[in-house]
Amino acid sequence: MAWYEEFEPIVKLNEPLGPYTWLGLGGPAEVLATPHSLDQLLELVKRCAQEGVPVRVLGGGSHVLVRDEGVPGLVIRLADESFQRIRCQGQLLTASAGTRLAHLVSAAVEHGLGGLENLVGIPGTVGGALRTNASAQGNEIGRWVRQVVLLTHQGEVVTRDQSELLFGYRQSNLDELLVLEATFQLEPADPAELTRSMQKHWIAKRAEQPSDQPCAGYVFKNPRGYDAAELIEQAGLKGTRIGGAEVSSRHANFILTHPGATARDVLRLVELIQSRVREHAGVELELDLEIW
Ligand SMILES: Cc1cc2nc3c(=O)[nH]c(=O)nc-3n(C[C@H](O)[C@H](O)[C@H](O)COP(=O)(O)OP(=O)(O)OC[C@H]3O[C@@H](n4cnc5c(N)ncnc54)[C@H](O)[C@@H]3O)c2cc1C
Repeated sequence: MAWYEEFEPIVKLNEPLGPYTWLGLGGPAEVLATPHSLDQLLELVKRCAQEGVPVRVLGGGSHVLVRDEGVPGLVIRLADESFQRIRCQGQLLTASAGTRLAHLVSAAVEHGLGGLENLVGIPGTVGGALRTNASAQGNEIGRWVRQVVLLTHQGEVVTRDQSELLFGYRQSNLDELLVLEATFQLEPADPAELTRSMQKHWIAKRAEQPSDQPCAGYVFKNPRGYDAAELIEQAGLKGTRIGGAEVSSRHANFILTHPGATARDVLRLVELIQSRVREHAGVELELDLEIW
């Protein structure tokens, strides 16, 4: 009996991952699981550890490019409502990892808690935002984290306090298997002011970025002292297209995809951007988008 058969109600075999990602392309997961409870998740992870099955976690899929060949092993999505809870206690807001970042930001604003409001408009989940230390205008989500609950590859639940956590530019030391939940310590503020500020940031973000087409955002890291989007624009690459993948004309650090695009198109465009920027500015662009 294959290891996944006992998890039949929550797994799909050979499930295309494109529809679960913002780029909308790429091959299937050998097994895709959407557990309905923490117990189910623990059983699943322990079973994979025993069987030596590789496990990955997909959040909102806004920062992942799935190769056309697909992904071996198990991909877990924390999309069930049991992984999307938010609770508030004084200045502390706790969110399960599958919660949309947008919902966390709105909940903070409604409770009159400031700090997260300019992260509005960043797609994806709380888990993905923490792993990538999502940020806007220098405000990194990691700065507000007080405690994180993680699940190890062996299926153990561990808690890490602020003093054990490290967040840097587009990275964190949350390198256990997955984040289960996080508690944020925020600052009391006037909800009406916070709402205005959130709306202002939302409008600015919508104006700056492409929003109506499948895409990947902040594809490359900003090299020290440079802005990746400016380097790409200065290399004359806005609007450049390979197959169904195109450099956004609105924000050059975004790649858009058109119907029929493949992951290979995106990867070829990434290589072209890197080589043109190298020739033009002598700067090496490092991918921030994760390739699966
Ligand atoms: C239109 C657009 C705008 C964007 N704007 C911004 C921006 O302003 N600022 C910014 O920083 N980024 C931005 N991004 C990039 C991206 O949205 C962020 O990195 C986001 O936080 C990723 O979250 P996700 O849930 O979609 O993660 P995914 O893409 O699903 O995964 C990204 C990584 O996080 C890991 N992960 C996901 N869930 C968990 C979990 N529960 N536990 C542990 N690891 C997990 C995945 O395994 C993977 O390694 C933008 C992207 C797009 C498409």
